[in-house]
Amino acid sequence: MNIHEYQAKALLAKYGVAVPRGGVAYTVKEAEEAARELGGPVWVVKSQIHAGGRGAGRFKGNEGGKGGVRVVKSVDEVRENADEMLGGILVTKQTGPGGKEVKRLFIEEGCDIARELYLGMLVDRATSRITIMASTEGGMDIEEVAAKTPDKIVTVTIDPATGFMPHHGRNVAFALQLEGKQVGAAVKLLGGLYAAFTDLDASLVEVNPLVVTGAGEVIALDAKMNFDDNALIRHSDIAELRDEDEEDPAELEAAKHELNYIKLDGNIGCMVNGAGLAMATMDIIKLHGGEPANFLDVGGGATKERVTKAFKIILSDPHVEGILVNIFGGIMRCDVIAEGVVAAAREVSLQVPLVVRLEGTNVDLGKKILSESGLPILSADDLGDAAEKVVQAVKEAS
Ligand code: GDP
Ligand code: MN
Repeated sequence: MNIHEYQAKALLAKYGVAVPRGGVAYTVKEAEEAARELGGPVWVVKSQIHAGGRGAGRFKGNEGGKGGVRVVKSVDEVRENADEMLGGILVTKQTGPGGKEVKRLFIEEGCDIARELYLGMLVDRATSRITIMASTEGGMDIEEVAAKTPDKIVTVTIDPATGFMPHHGRNVAFALQLEGKQVGAAVKLLGGLYAAFTDLDASLVEVNPLVVTGAGEVIALDAKMNFDDNALIRHSDIAELRDEDEEDPAELEAAKHELNYIKLDGNIGCMVNGAGLAMATMDIIKLHGGEPANFLDVGGGATKERVTKAFKIILSDPHVEGILVNIFGGIMRCDVIAEGVVAAAREVSLQVPLVVRLEGTNVDLGKKILSESGLPILSADDLGDAAEKVVQAVKEAS
């Protein structure tokens, strides 16, 4: 789960991470009030959306205008910019061309930037450890730095047996070319990031930029935090920070019905039981030249109702031009699935080709139900056959 920058900063501040003062605003009036309270003389008006690249982003309909992060010098300007930004659609490198509506702003005190650095902390799957990534090339696109000048990114891996130690922090600080009292400040900041990361079950913390101010202070000027969904049960306070406006509506709807659905860019919808089988199904669709439109695991104990719901969610994606149902009936019986598929296809008056591959308990009865339904369902014998049929059917239909 993702949270907003202002929320991440509030959490990190509790762990002793230095951040600028600021206040959240949902309205122009609140923005003005927050600005008055901060006092100035410089303020930053920041769009709060779950996507990076806001500074370089542009608002729809005003592509020649200013970005989603603006430095201003009066309360009047805070008001004018807040008015322009709230309700606007901000398009950044990370939002995709559709952009995201700005519904919240963060009004922060301005900061005198001397240097912009990069700090990231994540779970490195290769080492199974939390790893700190640091670079002197902060503020900009870190993906580009990683691609073009990977030697400018330093990584420090933390052994969970010791946890974060001051020497980890000093190594990072020296790599960032910090000096004097900045080193101690960075060690403290990194210790705070690590404590927040482990206490809160984060999967990613990114500070881009980490800045050194003109006065030599080390401050987190931006903050992004992701959390492990499976650990949210332990953190109700963080679960409450979820902003449903920022999430894919189909994925939200799926989660409510205990369906694991992730939207992808292709045109072949998949309905599968079991995550491993879902992955294999996506692979085999690609092997036959198709592109999966989604990952969908209906789980082990899917009912007729859940199968219907899953169908509706798949079809809510306008790019879906064909559906492949691949179910292995172990706990689940194939006849129950077949009934669900038939009922769902009728209920949604299915317009795209549907290929069903069933295997397992009561498979013959399941196939009989499908063939006697009178619906144009293509039955397949194995996974390869199913993938071939659905790719072919989509080609013919288009
Ligand atoms: P992002 O573009 O979504 O990553 O948003 P950031 O929070 O990183 O802001 C983008 C850029 O705005 C930063 O890299 C800074 O260069 C600039 N910026 C943010 N806050 C301030 C500030 O207080 N003063 C100045 N001068 N620039 C700022
Ligand atoms: Mn940033």
